[in-house]
Amino acid sequence: MADIIKLLPDHVANQIAAGEVVQRPASVVKELLENAIDAHATSIKLIVKDGGKALIQVVDNGVGMSATDARLSFERHATSKIQSAQDLFNLNTKGFRGEALASIAAIAHVDMQTRTEGTEVGTAIKIEGSKVVSQEVSVTPKGTSLSVKNLFFNIPARRNFLKSNQVELRHITDEFHRVALAHPLVEFHFYNNGNELFSLQSTNLRQRIVNILGQRTNQKLVPVTEETQMVKVSGFICKPEFAKKSRGEQFFFVNNRFIRSPYLHHAIVAAFEGLIRKETHPGYFLYLEVDPAAIDINIHPTKTEIKFDDEHSLYAILRSAVKHSLGQFNVVPALDFDHDPNLETPYDYKDKGVEQPRVMVDAAFNPFVDTPKKSGVVQGYQKQSAKGWENMYVGLESKVGKEDDFSSVSFESDTITGSIFEGQKENWETTGTTFQLRRKYIVTTIKSGMVIIDQSRAHQRVLYEKFLKNITVKEAVSQQLLFPLSLNYSKGDIGVIRDIKDSLTTVGFVFDKIEDEEIQITGVPLLVPESEVGMVIDQLISDHQQEITGDSFSQTDVLAKTLSKTLSVKTGEQLDNDSQLALVNDLFACKESRVSPFNKPIYVTLSENDIDKKFI
Ligand code: ADP
Ligand code: MG
Repeated sequence: MADIIKLLPDHVANQIAAGEVVQRPASVVKELLENAIDAHATSIKLIVKDGGKALIQVVDNGVGMSATDARLSFERHATSKIQSAQDLFNLNTKGFRGEALASIAAIAHVDMQTRTEGTEVGTAIKIEGSKVVSQEVSVTPKGTSLSVKNLFFNIPARRNFLKSNQVELRHITDEFHRVALAHPLVEFHFYNNGNELFSLQSTNLRQRIVNILGQRTNQKLVPVTEETQMVKVSGFICKPEFAKKSRGEQFFFVNNRFIRSPYLHHAIVAAFEGLIRKETHPGYFLYLEVDPAAIDINIHPTKTEIKFDDEHSLYAILRSAVKHSLGQFNVVPALDFDHDPNLETPYDYKDKGVEQPRVMVDAAFNPFVDTPKKSGVVQGYQKQSAKGWENMYVGLESKVGKEDDFSSVSFESDTITGSIFEGQKENWETTGTTFQLRRKYIVTTIKSGMVIIDQSRAHQRVLYEKFLKNITVKEAVSQQLLFPLSLNYSKGDIGVIRDIKDSLTTVGFVFDKIEDEEIQITGVPLLVPESEVGMVIDQLISDHQQEITGDSFSQTDVLAKTLSKTLSVKTGEQLDNDSQLALVNDLFACKESRVSPFNKPIYVTLSENDIDKKFI
C-alpha cells in the first residue's frame, strides 16, 4: 500500500488550533489583552463592534515589535516568552504557547500596526485567513494596535453558532473584567459600538473593584491578607449579608492570572459556612502569589485552570485567611438606618437548628378559571412573607418568639376538587385523601390505585404555567409596594435587567427607574413576597447569563422557569392537608401535569395490579 500520511499544511493546522483557542469573540479579547499586558503596556484600549463579531481591536502602548517580529508573531509556535522547556517552570507572562495570533489570523481578517521605542516608523501587516495580504512601513504610535474583523468568516458553522450580540458582549465584558481586575495599575478604556462602557484609571485594587462593579461595592468589601512561605494571599471578600444568588462576583487570580478552581472555591465556601443563606454565593476577589515553579498552567489550552503542587495546604491557608477576615471585620454590624435588619445573619447561626423556610402559594390559581379569588390571598402573602423571612435565619426573634402559625405551609385553597380531574376522569378519581411522605412526596389514591407526587416539582409546574400564562396574555397582576424598593447591581447586571425588562414587566414587575448601578421597583408579581424580590432578580440575572436570551420566546420561558424554581415549595417542607389537596388539584388542572418545567417526572402511579403483583 502507498504511503498515505501527510503533514497538514500550516493554514489547516492553524485553523484546527484556532478551534481550541478561539471559541467566541471573547476568546480573542482575552488573548489580545493578555498580549498587551505581556508587552508591559500601561494603557490599553479595547474597541468592539456588534458583540465582537464585526470588530475587536486592542490598542496598547507596550514595547511593540520590530518588522521581523511582527511578521513572525503570526507563525505558529512563535513566541518571545519562552526559549526552552525549562522556562515553562518560571512563567511570569500570560502567554507562552505562541499560538494565539496564528490561530486568530487563520479565521479572521487581521490588521496589525506596531512600532518599538526608538524607531521612527513601524510596521503594518494585513492577514486574511492565514494569508499575508500586505506588509508595509507605517507611521504609528509606539506600541501595538491589532484589529480582528469578521471573525470565523471562513468557518460559517462557527459563525452561525455565535449567540446574539448582547450575549457575546457579555462574555467579552467578563474577560475584560478579569484582566482589568488582575492589573489595577494599568489604565483601560472599553468601547462598544462607539460608546465608552468603562474608563478605568490606574489605581489600587479596591478602587479598581469598585470602578468595575459599582460604587456600592465599596461597603461590601472586607480585606484578606495572609503570608506564608508557600503563598501570599491578598484581596477582598464580600460581607456575608451581600451574598448573591448569582455567582458573578467570584474571582481567583494566581500570579495575576484569572483562574477557576472548584477546589479552592470550596475553601471559601467552607469559610462562609453558616454565615450565608443556602443557595447564595459569597463574593470574593482573591489574589494568590506563588512560586511559578509550584504551579502548572499547562493543563488547559485556554489556561483558566492550573495545577498546584500542594493543593491541600493551599486550601487550608485560604480557608483560615478568609475565616480570620470574617471574624475580624464583620463582628458587629454598624448602626445603619438604611440597613435591612432582615438581611442580617447572626453569627451563632451555626449552632442552632435550621428552621423550615416558608413558602407562599396561590392555590386559588386555576388556569381554567379566569378570575381567581385574589384579595384574600394577597393578605395572606404579606403576612406570611414578613414572618417567614425573619424565621429563615435563626436569630433573636425566633429564639424568643414562640412558634407561629406559619410553621407549615398553608395553601389558601378555595377547593375546586370535583371539577379538577375532568378530562382525565376515567383515570383520576381521587378519594380526596392525601398524606405527605417524608416531607417530599404527596401520596393520594385514585380509583385504580395510588399516585405518588413530588411536591416540589408539582408546584414548579403549577407556578410555571401560571407565569407563562401571565406573560403570554400579558395580564399579570402586580402587587404595589408600599415603598419603592431600591436594589444595587453592577453595570453588567443592569445590562441584563435592561435586556429582560419587557418580560419582567409582563409578569408583574414595575420599574420606576433603571440607572447605571441601581434599579427602583414599585411593583412585584403577586406571588413574589417583597422580601424575596432581591433573590428572585439575582436568580433571573444568573439564569439569563447562562441561557440563550436572544429571542423573546426563550426569554419568557427562562423567566417562568426561574420564578417557578425560586418560589416553589421545596423538598423538606411540611404541607398541611388542605395544602396537599390543593396542590394535587392544581397540578392536575395543568396543561401538562406529568413533567416539571425542567423535564423531570412529577409523579408515579401504582395500580392495584402493580401492588397485587408484589404480594405474589
Ligand atoms: P504568546 O503570547 O503565547 O507568546 P501570541 O501568538 O499571543 O503567543 O503572540 C506571539 C508573540 O507576538 C508574542 O510572544 C509577542 O512576542 C508578540 N506579541 C503579540 N502581541 C503583542 C503586543 N501587543 N505587543 C508586543 N508584542 C506582541
Ligand atoms: Mg499571547
